[in-house]
Amino acid sequence: MDELLSISDMLLASVSEKMSASPSIFNLWFNEFKLASLTEEEVIFTTPSAIKKNILSTKYQKLISDSLEETIGFVPLKISIVTEEEFKSPNPKGVGNTASVISAPYFETNDKKKNDDEEEEKIITESISSPSNKRTLLDDYTFENFVEGSSNKFAKAACYAVAKEPNTYNPLFIYGNSGLGKTHLLYAVINYMKKNHEGIKIVYKKCESFLDELIKAIRDGSTTEFKDKYRSCDVLLIDDIQFLAGKEMTQEEFFHTFSALYEAEKQIILTSDRPPLEIKPLEDRLRTRFEGGLLADVQPPSFELRIAIIKQKADTMGLTISNELIEYMAERLQNNIRQIEGVLKRIYAVHSLTSAEVTKEKIDEVISIIDPGNIPTDALIEKILSAVSKAYSVPVDQMKSKKRTDNVTNARHVAIYLIKQLTELTLKEIGAIFGRDHSTVVFSIEKVDKNIKTVNNYEAEINRLIKEIKG
Ligand code: ADP
Ligand code: MG
Repeated sequence: MDELLSISDMLLASVSEKMSASPSIFNLWFNEFKLASLTEEEVIFTTPSAIKKNILSTKYQKLISDSLEETIGFVPLKISIVTEEEFKSPNPKGVGNTASVISAPYFETNDKKKNDDEEEEKIITESISSPSNKRTLLDDYTFENFVEGSSNKFAKAACYAVAKEPNTYNPLFIYGNSGLGKTHLLYAVINYMKKNHEGIKIVYKKCESFLDELIKAIRDGSTTEFKDKYRSCDVLLIDDIQFLAGKEMTQEEFFHTFSALYEAEKQIILTSDRPPLEIKPLEDRLRTRFEGGLLADVQPPSFELRIAIIKQKADTMGLTISNELIEYMAERLQNNIRQIEGVLKRIYAVHSLTSAEVTKEKIDEVISIIDPGNIPTDALIEKILSAVSKAYSVPVDQMKSKKRTDNVTNARHVAIYLIKQLTELTLKEIGAIFGRDHSTVVFSIEKVDKNIKTVNNYEAEINRLIKEIKG
């Protein structure tokens, strides 16, 4: 029984991570979703109501079977979802009769990522052509819930300006590393425009599916429809435009679409994981067009912004995490907001099921799953010291002592240098590890820099150590 519970936990964590919808939607359908029985032939899940049973076995069937595959390594021949009542009924055979059966395995034939993308796009197109009150995952991305900091303020302001008054800046080109909120901003523009500019025709496409669509249109001889679709909209948003690199034919077609819209003063918004200059190869005339409007970048979030984001997301999920642990998470998760969200979702999945308190150990565990290369600073320092100790045959306590023989001094310099390179500690904090002040740390770093330039094989050894520590 305990085993089932823990499989259940892991499965829900996996579902929550894979699901692109908001935590409240996850909660709505999966809140009391439980693994009731598992054999090689059949897995039975229970849920409280018939409605949930139906939704889970239609809308979420693939998600469930993918998550099963990930959690237990296989998908039983039959996946049944039944109500708790049906499961308890004295006639277990009856279960199969009323159960919603998902015929497995789905994961063999479908490319999950792609299906998700298509679904997202469909939702947008639908809600544009026939505005409905249906909640979609799009609604989760708004300007209101986009937390602002110095790293994304400009991009947000630019998007907001354009959403309010299309053609203020044209094109608007948003760029920055993955997971920093570019797609969120595009969706926020769409949401805002739908609310405030009645009847506006918006076309949103991920660049990759724009390419697929174009290739298909050429193959089917339906390029006229393709052209019409893209040239008759009021706003065109293309996400991840860097995928145009090297695709000559598509660049050509895109150039014409772009020019037609631009001349008609229709708003164009593009995102990319790099600035136009670094998209290669890209036709010059396109690059010039991309650079001709407003360029806005999103940078990695500051410590304060990370804290604000964690607080906001935890709040929305109804997760209580102490300030101390929020700061701890913010220290460890530095470069990617998607990752911050992934960690919270995973914690939430387990937490909401067991209502266990969120602990530092839980956070460490989840981070080690989501970002295996990311280890706590304390552990990293231990690792650096022991690698250096081994490489130069100098015990750690001697590195920390006042001893000044050449060998010990050199090992100490290298350890200090590596801690500076591989952690976020300040000079003062590094000094404290060795019972010294920050000027010693500066001296060590300079010494190693100099040795790298002048001593044979010194750099190779440092690089080898870095590799060993990180690997
Ligand atoms: P990108 O498109 O740049 O790769 P996304 O827009 O997909 O990144 O963002 C990744 C996740 O992080 C999304 O779930 C998004 O809602 C969230 N996110 C990013 N930036 C912010 C922010 N400033 N405030 C709140 N959530 C954010
Ligand atoms: Mg994106």
